Amino acid sequence: MHILSTDIDGTIYESDTDAEIFASGWTELSRSLDDTFLIYNTGRSAESVEELVGSTSLPSPDLLISDVGTTIHSEQITPSDWESHLIPPEWDRERIDDIVVNWIPDIERQPARCQSEAKISYYWHDAQIEVREQLSRKLTEEGLPHQLIYSSNKDFDILPPNGGKGGALRWVCESLGFSLRDAVVAGDSGNDSAMFELPDVQRIIPANAHADLLFAIKDLPSFQASGACATGVIEGLEKLWQDTCVSR
Ligand SMILES: [Mg+2]
Repeated sequence: MHILSTDIDGTIYESDTDAEIFASGWTELSRSLDDTFLIYNTGRSAESVEELVGSTSLPSPDLLISDVGTTIHSEQITPSDWESHLIPPEWDRERIDDIVVNWIPDIERQPARCQSEAKISYYWHDAQIEVREQLSRKLTEEGLPHQLIYSSNKDFDILPPNGGKGGALRWVCESLGFSLRDAVVAGDSGNDSAMFELPDVQRIIPANAHADLLFAIKDLPSFQASGACATGVIEGLEKLWQDTCVSR
């Protein structure tokens, strides 16, 4: 198998040109290798991805992980199986939200369309790592399982521990009988680091990646592309999959 799990914004899409570059590169690779599997792994909602795929050249994925690794869309997956894995009995989004807004004065809830049972989302500018660690300790003391994800120096998501782009990708691969060794991950910002931290995957970092991702994965072997966005991702795939690519 040749599995690509890629973020969308800033990774394969910033403009229509990026969408075209990704689409033509991916089509070429899929022709050369007959066992490719495309996963979009994004903070966007499923509706927003559907709209984007409908209005740009981006190809439809074989499977979609949306809302920062909290929802999975695939005919091969039973949603209730994923939900029972994702949401532990102790998950209590109301109590977590109460603690967060009382504890951090300058935090702002994202709009309702960005919230779900398994995702509590805020805008929190310049959140210091020490304060995030204190918050995590506080939630743990209160017996509230959680995972904190901070991205682009403003987006702050609280998810159940099994969620996130990495947790969802791992579960998808286990459920479909795929090996993480066959997976390549690509992303450009902090919420992608959980994919990069999975063992055995290969990793592509486009040249435009944010400092928060670079810092989080500084000790992991990765392909650092010279191209930005889609150009960099295709460059990485051609390099990592070259021994199995047959030129036609
Ligand atoms: Mg991104």
